[in-house]
Amino acid sequence: MKKYQFGIYIGRFQPLHLGHLQTIKLALEQTEQLILILGSDRIAPDIKNPWSSEERIKMIQSCLTADELKRIYFLPIRDWLYSDNLWLAAVQQKVFEITQGNPKIVVLGHRKDTSSYYLDLFPQWHYLETGLYQALNSTDIRRIYFEGKDSSYRQFLPLGVAQFLDTFQKSDRYSTLCKEYQFVQAYQKAWATAPYPPIFVTTDAVVVQSGHVLVVRRKAMPGLGLIALPGGFVRQDETLIEGMLRELKEETRLKVPLPVLRGSIVENHVFDNPGRSLRGRTITHAYFLQLKAGELPVVKGSDDAEKAWWMSLADLYAHEDQIYEDHFQIIQHFVSKI
Ligand code: NAD
Repeated sequence: MKKYQFGIYIGRFQPLHLGHLQTIKLALEQTEQLILILGSDRIAPDIKNPWSSEERIKMIQSCLTADELKRIYFLPIRDWLYSDNLWLAAVQQKVFEITQGNPKIVVLGHRKDTSSYYLDLFPQWHYLETGLYQALNSTDIRRIYFEGKDSSYRQFLPLGVAQFLDTFQKSDRYSTLCKEYQFVQAYQKAWATAPYPPIFVTTDAVVVQSGHVLVVRRKAMPGLGLIALPGGFVRQDETLIEGMLRELKEETRLKVPLPVLRGSIVENHVFDNPGRSLRGRTITHAYFLQLKAGELPVVKGSDDAEKAWWMSLADLYAHEDQIYEDHFQIIQHFVSKI
C-alpha cells in the first residue's frame, strides 16, 4: 500500500531529462498512480517548446517499463498565459475525471525559481518537494542541442530521449529551429550593448467580421510560416493606433477605408506576459476591430506577410498549434468575452 493514491507531476519536459525521470521514479514509489501533466500543450513549435505533447509522451514512454506505464496517466493541458484561474480550472477538472474526488493526492515538484510559483496553487493537495537533481535544466540542454556543435547534451538525458533527439536531428523541423535559434541569438546580441535591456512595443490588429478573423502567414523569422495577427513594431513618430493601422494595411492591403477602420475599433488591451516573445521583452497593444456584417473585404499578403486571409473562428481553433506567440490567446480574449 503506497502513501498516496495519486501523484501529480507538472512539467513541460522539453525535453525530459534525468532530473525529471528521477522525480517520476520517486512518484511511482510513493503513489499508486501518477498523473503527468504535460504543460504548454498545442503551442506552435519554437526553440523553447520544440516538441508536441504526442512527441513528449513518446519520449517519456521510452524511459519506463510496461508495468510502470500501466500506472501513469498523461494529461496534456494548454496554457492560458493571461489567466491562471482558467489554467487551474482545466487542471482541476481533468484531474477530477481521473481521481473522482479521492483526497489522497500529492503534487511533486521542485521550486527552482519564480517560474515554479504554480506549485503553490494547489492548497487542496499535499506537496512533496523533490529537491534539485544535479542542477540539470532543459534550457541548457536545448541550448547545446540547437547550437549543434556537439552531443554533450546526451549525458543529461535518459537513453530513449537521447535516441529520440538523435532522430529528430535529421528532420526539417530541427534545421528550421536551429536557424531560429541563431536568429534569436543574433537579435539579442545586437541589443546587448544597450545601456538597459530593451523593452519593445508592438501593436496587433484583431479584425473580425461575421465569425472570421483576419490573419497573415509570417514571411520572416521568428515564427517563419506560422499564422499571426497583422502587427509589428511601433515607430518613433506614430501613435499606437497609427502604428496598428499602418501595419494592418501594409501586411494585408485590407480594402476598407482608414476612417471606417478607425471607427470600427471597439476595444483595446495590453498583452504583457514577460515570456510572450523569444526575441526579448515585448509588450503588445492589441486592437479589436469589429467590421459590419457582409461580404468579406478583399485582402492580399504583402510586406512581412506571405499571405493574408480571413480565417473562420472554427478553423482558427483547429489550428491553435500553428499560431505565433500568444496571438491565439489575444484573439480569444476579444472574441470569447462572456
Ligand atoms: P519543467 O519541465 O521545466 O519542470 C517540471 C518540474 O521539474 C518542475 O517542478 C521543476 O522544478 C522540476 N525540475 C526541473 N529540473 C529539475 C532537476 N534538475 N531536478 C529536480 N527537479 C527538476 O516544466 P515547467 O515549465 O515548470 O512546467 C510548468 C507548466 O505549467 C508549463 O507548461 C507552464 O506553461 C504551465 N503553467 C501554465 C499556467 C497558465 O497557463 N496560466 C500557469 C502556471 C503553469
